[in-house]
Amino acid sequence: MQILFFDLFLIIWYYEFVNIKYMDLKNIFKNQDKKEDTNNSALNELFWGENSIWNEIKTENKILEKDFDVEEIFQDALSRWASDIHIEPDETNLNIRFRVDGTLVNYKTLDESYKSSLIARIKVLGWLKIDERRLPQDGKASFNEKKTNTSIDLRINVIPTIYWEKIAIRLLKKENEWVDLRTIWILPMNMVRIKKHLADNFGLCLVVGPTWSGKSTTLYAMLSTFDTVDKNISTLEDPVEYRIKWVNHTQINPAINFNFADGLRSLLRQDPDIIMVWEIRDSETAKLSVEASITGHIVFSTIHANSSVSTIQRLVNLWIDPLLIVSSLRMIISQRLARKLCPHCKIKYKPEEIVKEKVIKRIWKYINPNEELFFYKVNETGCEKCNHKWYKWRTWIYEILEMTDGLEKLILAWASNTQLEIQAIWDGMVNIKDDALLKVALWEISLEEVFNILWN
Ligand SMILES: [Zn+2]
Repeated sequence: MQILFFDLFLIIWYYEFVNIKYMDLKNIFKNQDKKEDTNNSALNELFWGENSIWNEIKTENKILEKDFDVEEIFQDALSRWASDIHIEPDETNLNIRFRVDGTLVNYKTLDESYKSSLIARIKVLGWLKIDERRLPQDGKASFNEKKTNTSIDLRINVIPTIYWEKIAIRLLKKENEWVDLRTIWILPMNMVRIKKHLADNFGLCLVVGPTWSGKSTTLYAMLSTFDTVDKNISTLEDPVEYRIKWVNHTQINPAINFNFADGLRSLLRQDPDIIMVWEIRDSETAKLSVEASITGHIVFSTIHANSSVSTIQRLVNLWIDPLLIVSSLRMIISQRLARKLCPHCKIKYKPEEIVKEKVIKRIWKYINPNEELFFYKVNETGCEKCNHKWYKWRTWIYEILEMTDGLEKLILAWASNTQLEIQAIWDGMVNIKDDALLKVALWEISLEEVFNILWN
């Protein structure tokens, strides 16, 4: 009965009350582009202030009395450098978890009485229908981080579960000064390779790796190296995570049948110099990207593959002729993210002789043989600075494959992945495992982390 009453109230409230406010908000959103700062504060006031929509609902309606401060969740998530917030109901509770450095960590567990108010509140924020509980919904909102006074975009996704609705919120920072090739841990010998191919006039550059391997950061970092004023740079993205000045960011929308292939076809009529296609998932997008890259465009994209050489196999599976692969492909960056040890509490140690030997066997070319080898490992008590999580930030590990004459011959001869890898290493590629071990020797990550990521 209570639930029925609650539903009825929400429906009446939604149509009678929100619609009026909605008009005000629409105007604010319209003006947001012109005067972001002042309107951000107006927006904040509307959502969070004394006289916000939510406070009005709360005072007018006694059902939603248990309220948890949503803003507090967002501020806490940002201060812990979370990339996503997951609000998940189970049989009795509402669990809130943050994704920090790629791993989910528990933030708070609230009791059942918060379920309706917290989820309804986030739905209001994302302009979602609060009376729709049977279908998934996607929404957007923005929000101001207090500490830095920067605007954060929120991507809100709601999906019904057997207990209640589950919400996932992605936090996207609009400012992106930190996306820079110099800050994403590319070793000097790899940096030389990347820079060489960024100076190419045409060709396909692919970034590969599993989900959560930081592919988009590498793409944005490469895009931001171009002199964007005299180049037409256009992107097709889903979602648009960062904004770069002079770059035309286009959001793909599969819900209205605007997919990567459609976007790419239209984009090519706009005469771009550099194209970034967020992901090659299907044969059509793959073909169009390859065609664009051999007709005078530089095309950047990501693809789901486990290693640099298996990417070639993946392109063949997407019906790309090996002849087209060798003439379009310039570089494949295969990467993973590893958690960096907390610099304040990590422990220095001397590796065992047998471990040391094995590591040196792989990376002897790049280290000084006269210097004693030290590694660092996690401090299991942690410290205040890392919230006792042992790790702080993440670092990238890479493998960069360049197209060479030797590889071209092998690809045209349908050689196996092992043959391709041997050739690539022969031609100077630093294997991803070696790159990771070098970062262990440079005291950034632990040997255990590397084993977990690459040897498991
Ligand atoms: Zn620490």
